[in-house]
Amino acid sequence: MGNPLYDTLFGRHAGQDTVFLHLPDGSTLTHDAFLRMAAQYAHQIVHCGLKAGDRLAVQIAKSPQALAVYAACAQTGVIFLPLNTAYTPAEVAYFQENSGAKLFLCDGKNADGLAPVSANSGARQETLNADGTGSFAEMVAGNPDQFDTVERENNDLAAFLYTSGTTGRSKGAMLTQGNLLSNAQVLTDVWRFTSDDVLLHALPIFHTHGLFVATNICLLSGAQMVFYPGFDVQAIIRDMPRATTMMGVPTFYTRLLERDDFTADHARNMRLFISGSAPLLAETHREFEGRTGHRILERYGMTETNMNTSNPYDGERRAGTVGFALPGIDLRVCDNQGTELPQGEIGTIEVRGPNVFKGYWQMPEKTAEELRDNAFFITGDLGLIDADGYVTIVGRGKDLIISGGYNIYPKEVELVLDQAPGVQESAVIGVPHPDFGESPVGILVRRSGETPDTDAIMASLGDSLARFKHPRKLLVVDALPRNTMGKVQKNVLRDEYQGLFAKG
Ligand code: ATP
Ligand code: MG
Repeated sequence: MGNPLYDTLFGRHAGQDTVFLHLPDGSTLTHDAFLRMAAQYAHQIVHCGLKAGDRLAVQIAKSPQALAVYAACAQTGVIFLPLNTAYTPAEVAYFQENSGAKLFLCDGKNADGLAPVSANSGARQETLNADGTGSFAEMVAGNPDQFDTVERENNDLAAFLYTSGTTGRSKGAMLTQGNLLSNAQVLTDVWRFTSDDVLLHALPIFHTHGLFVATNICLLSGAQMVFYPGFDVQAIIRDMPRATTMMGVPTFYTRLLERDDFTADHARNMRLFISGSAPLLAETHREFEGRTGHRILERYGMTETNMNTSNPYDGERRAGTVGFALPGIDLRVCDNQGTELPQGEIGTIEVRGPNVFKGYWQMPEKTAEELRDNAFFITGDLGLIDADGYVTIVGRGKDLIISGGYNIYPKEVELVLDQAPGVQESAVIGVPHPDFGESPVGILVRRSGETPDTDAIMASLGDSLARFKHPRKLLVVDALPRNTMGKVQKNVLRDEYQGLFAKG
């Protein structure tokens, strides 16, 4: 029977002296050295009393150690539960309790600030630092560097990954070995990853994008990763000539474009730039292509399903779209009852396939609500499929504005506002209004050193948007609130401006 996840991603590299990671200090880590470290961790996880199916939570800096915990979990059948390194002690306490994790590994520098692990959760807390120190690191020192892999099946749980919490409290998505493997296989194939690739990896590894998309593909294909603790634009520009691919969120690309010294020459050996996790602005697309000659490939996914769509590797990468449903994945656009809508109409995107998660941990009602007939996941995103099969995301259902009975898709208005003079980007939200239920409000981010003329912008909207879609008010700000994945937090904006049209 074996252990599909461990054998396919990790075990395949046993004994190989090939490079797995390029580290910030200029050193490299081979696959073999990495697997030996992971095997030592696996012994320790078992010594700490964890068995297959138990949860192990980690909140440690991005490091080979953090990935070794992932590998050790796969090898022992323990469920890997990475936590956002920005979470506060109170948030960590919630996730510990919610997940019932038996072991919690944290950075030494954070440990002091953490509330003691809940006594009734029975969890044990140890430290593991990126420099290889910490109580857990000390314990593993004498352990054997080989471990007998625990048998598992495709359907066994491999990870709990908490959603980004953009629309509410984060939910623990239960992902199986099969979920992770099917996606890694499809993406390796469609994005043509091989052991000749070198990926610039500046994403966090507590989120599906940097962990399951980027890391699993590199493990499966044997590609190397240049592993950055965070996004450092200077380091990326410096290292790009020796890399072939990059995966990023849209802000990575805007940061690169802000640097005048970033040129096509830096990208001379690159074959693929990928973007996801948030919409890529058409302007970023255009500018990046103008500067480097590369057309960014945009894809779409989420914690619960990993990746659903991708623009084509060879065909037209269409700006404003997230491309086609990936092979083996059914993607449809439905009304609220789950009836498929005619092509071109906007509705809720639903996804079915081997990538779809098993449900939310301890949230049976929410799971039943969002997994239609136990098959189609109701993503909560609104979108459409055009005649050529390209999928466009128009926003989240929760962000849809209903004003005086009319539906307003914020993205449609944002696309117009983004083009206005002096505007860097925009966000349109619905604000409670005594007459209309809700009214759209446009929040404009000024281009540095400029002040958008809101009256002139308002007057110009008549040419591009129906009257009922016009924002009732335009406000100018320096920046939009974003979470760590670069997603705009519209709920924060809605809270801030909820009283804008209040009477009295
Ligand atoms: P929560 O579910 O807790 O509110 P979240 O949905 O932001 O948070 P993630 O699973 O990290 O958590 O993000 C998935 C969401 O990100 C998708 O549902 C979609 O709204 C958005 N997204 C991902 N890729 C793209 C893209 N290329 N274009 C537009 N939106 C995207
Ligand atoms: Mg979500």
